[in-house]
Amino acid sequence: MPMEAHAARADAWVDPKVAPPAAAPLSAVAGTGPESRPRLTGNALLDALPDSERVSIVPLLRRVALAARQLLSEPGQAIETVYFPVSGAISLVAVTGDGSSVHVASVGPEGVAGIPVFFGASSAPNLRAVAQMPGAALAMPAGQFARCLDRSAPLRRLVGSYAHALLTQAAQEVACNRRHSVLERCSCWLLVTADRARAQEFPMTQEFLAELLGTRRASVVSAARALQDAGSIRYRRGRIRITDRARLEASACGCYRVIRQSLLPAG
Ligand SMILES: [Zn+2]
Repeated sequence: MPMEAHAARADAWVDPKVAPPAAAPLSAVAGTGPESRPRLTGNALLDALPDSERVSIVPLLRRVALAARQLLSEPGQAIETVYFPVSGAISLVAVTGDGSSVHVASVGPEGVAGIPVFFGASSAPNLRAVAQMPGAALAMPAGQFARCLDRSAPLRRLVGSYAHALLTQAAQEVACNRRHSVLERCSCWLLVTADRARAQEFPMTQEFLAELLGTRRASVVSAARALQDAGSIRYRRGRIRITDRARLEASACGCYRVIRQSLLPAG
C-alpha cells in the first residue's frame, strides 16, 4: 500500500481527543517524520505497542461507534470482529442454559474484546459481548487479529498480559457475586462505570443494572434508593449521578480496588 493511502486511512480513525493537532505532518502517522512518534489511538493496549508495530496494525483498524446495549457477539457464535475500545466499555456477560445472565467482566480502553481469538478459539461458548454505554472502538476482523498475533511478539505479550488482567477481573466478580450484598455490588459497579465513562454522571437504567448484577430489579431499586437517601448518588430518568464519591466508595466492597487495578493499562 502506498504510504499516502496508509497515512490517510490511519488518520481517519484517530481519536481527536488524543490526536495531536491536525497540522501535524501525515508522515508522523507513519513514523517517518522528524518527530517520528506515531499518533496514539486512545486504546492503551495499542498505544503500548512499539511505534514500529503500531504503524503496521493501525491501517487494519476501522473506527466504529458503540450504542448502549449494542450486541456485539452471542454465545457460541463465531467471533467475526475484535474491538479495541477507545471510550465507553463492553460488558462480557455469562449466559446460562435457562437464559439468565450475569456480568463477569468489562473491557474498556485498556484492552480488547475478542480474547478467545488470542487463545485460538473461534467463539466463546457462554459469553455475550454487549456495549455497556455509548462509546467508540477500533474494530478489526478476527482473522486479521489472529494473523497480527502470529507475526507480532509485542502484541502477543500485551494481549497475554491483558488476558490475565481480564481473568483477574472475572474471578473477582465471581467472588463478589457470591459473597457481597447487592448494595455493595451496586456501589462497586457504579464506581467502575463512572471510571469507564470518565464522568460522574452516565446513562444507566435500573433494568440494565439488575441484568448486569444478575439480580432482581426490585433489589436494585432498593439499593439505589438507599444510596440516594445516603446522598451518594442521584438517580433520575435513566441517568445516575455520583454526588458523593467518597461515601459511595465506603458503601462498595473491596472488589472495587481489585477491579480498578485490573483496568490499568497493560505493560
Ligand atoms: Zn464485591
